[in-house]
Amino acid sequence: MEVAMVCTRVNLLILILSLCSPYKFIQSPMDFGPLNLLPTTTTASSDFGRILFHSPSAVLKPQAPRDISLLLSFLSASPLGKVTVAARGAGHSIHGQAQALDGIVVEMSSLPSEIEFYRREGEGDVSYADVGGGIMWIELLEQSLKLGLAPRSWTDYLYLTIGGTLSNAGISGQTFKHGPQISNVLQLEVVTGRGEIVTCSPTKDAELFNAVLGGLGQFGIITRARILLQEAPQKVKWVRAFYDDFATFTKDQELLVSMPVLVDYVEGFIVLNEQSLHSSSIAFPTNVDFNPDFGTKNNPKIYYCIEFAVHDYQNKNINVEQVVEVISRQMSHIASHLYSVEVSYFDFLNRVRMEEMSLRNSGLWEVHHPWLNMFVPRAGISDFRDLLMDSISPDNFEGLILIYPLLRHKWDTNTSVVLPDSGSTDQVMYAVGILRSANPDDGCSHHCLQELLLRHRRLAGAAASGLGAKQYLAHHPTPAGWRRHFGRRWERFADRKARFDPRCILGPGQGIFPRDSSSSNGAFASYS
Ligand code: FAD
Repeated sequence: MEVAMVCTRVNLLILILSLCSPYKFIQSPMDFGPLNLLPTTTTASSDFGRILFHSPSAVLKPQAPRDISLLLSFLSASPLGKVTVAARGAGHSIHGQAQALDGIVVEMSSLPSEIEFYRREGEGDVSYADVGGGIMWIELLEQSLKLGLAPRSWTDYLYLTIGGTLSNAGISGQTFKHGPQISNVLQLEVVTGRGEIVTCSPTKDAELFNAVLGGLGQFGIITRARILLQEAPQKVKWVRAFYDDFATFTKDQELLVSMPVLVDYVEGFIVLNEQSLHSSSIAFPTNVDFNPDFGTKNNPKIYYCIEFAVHDYQNKNINVEQVVEVISRQMSHIASHLYSVEVSYFDFLNRVRMEEMSLRNSGLWEVHHPWLNMFVPRAGISDFRDLLMDSISPDNFEGLILIYPLLRHKWDTNTSVVLPDSGSTDQVMYAVGILRSANPDDGCSHHCLQELLLRHRRLAGAAASGLGAKQYLAHHPTPAGWRRHFGRRWERFADRKARFDPRCILGPGQGIFPRDSSSSNGAFASYS
């Protein structure tokens, strides 16, 4: 056993030397003892954004958390230390966040995929699942539904990993009611940047637990998470209502999130043109007879759609039709433009998969995705809408623009997530997702993509400085930009980095703590 450890350490030393060498002689699969280090793949250097392609020097396919621990302990103790490591979940980042230029990408999907379910009876009767960090939410849903259970808080798309969304926040239409996914985790197993394997929770090693949630992969690699579950409904009543006035649209959204006993899900989107009306209807299985006048290129008219849902538990004596009736009577949508349909809970949660399949069939999934996501304080949402409309042309916008309210008290401010400063007692803030596609085959190649990215940077900058908005799934090209992003939370974030990943090995793709090649201690000191 000891001999094996020594061999592994020698092999790791060879690895470090080879990675630090100016000559990239790692070209074939490497046998580093029990560590399954492989040459780089195109997957490891790309992501959903298709904007950045940073190639690592090697890929680790861990068979167990100890493989990650071995790698990180060695790298953090190595005096040569320049090698960085990024965990890669499903690679659905936009700006290379899970990439590691010339470093090592850890493919989380190779960890064991079993899920264990528990019920803690007694006070509160809690159900939860222990699940690997590389498992996708769709897998957890499929397994938990067999027991009549499901997580409470979701993302719109389920082919994302547990570790990937917990490193950000994980938001969707349930967030107003249950908080983001990071508010629905009981415990984590984490391999820190020092290589220690730590089981942490709100009561044990709480600083690490809070650091890692929303921590952008900077403090440790999540190898296991304990996710809170609830009884799953069998069906969902899914409702859409259309608006031609922004103030009425947001007023009704705020009304809906004030009724958590009746409403289970609230989102909304801008209807910019025929295409956005059509593409948003792919997964909504009923005839939507809404054919508005979109005006002219010089004088466009735009619309808004609220989407809400009510869970239908067939063992409970609740008439969902009546619940929807009670809710919709209080709403002020365009008369007669409210549509509803009942679908299975699985199909409702997995609705974006249907859109993915349709886009894949038309060759429109694997294109550039210059996305911008923001959290906007309620006081600024109308101005944000105006800034946004100044930066796009409704007639040729490809993609979707989501807008929906969240409630601050559902977020734990001890985690690393960055929200707009509250400034007042206002509970409401908005999530806005500008989910744009840019198809090179349709004329949007390099120059056009750069132009869209620049527009988003300007919009994000104006919204941050003028309205106090913060980027979600943030991208800042410089460390100074990140410091502004964190604002008064920067010191805590930097302290956590110094504590859990002092050599700045983890999460290089985020660009928050770039490693300083002139310092054998990594770059931490110069950026803290
Ligand atoms: P990756 O892209 O692989 O990694 C993201 C970051 O997390 C990287 O920094 C990576 O190093 C780090 N990381 C990955 N795994 C771990 C781990 N185990 N431990 C520590 N760090 C890790 N987000 C929402 O909140 N709500 C949505 O509704 C939503 N919908 C989306 C729909 C689509 C089609 C797409 C492409 C993205 C969507 N997202 C949404 C964004 C998504 O949550 C993030 O991009 C998330 O990071 C993707 O998870 P992933 O597994 O692909 O992570």
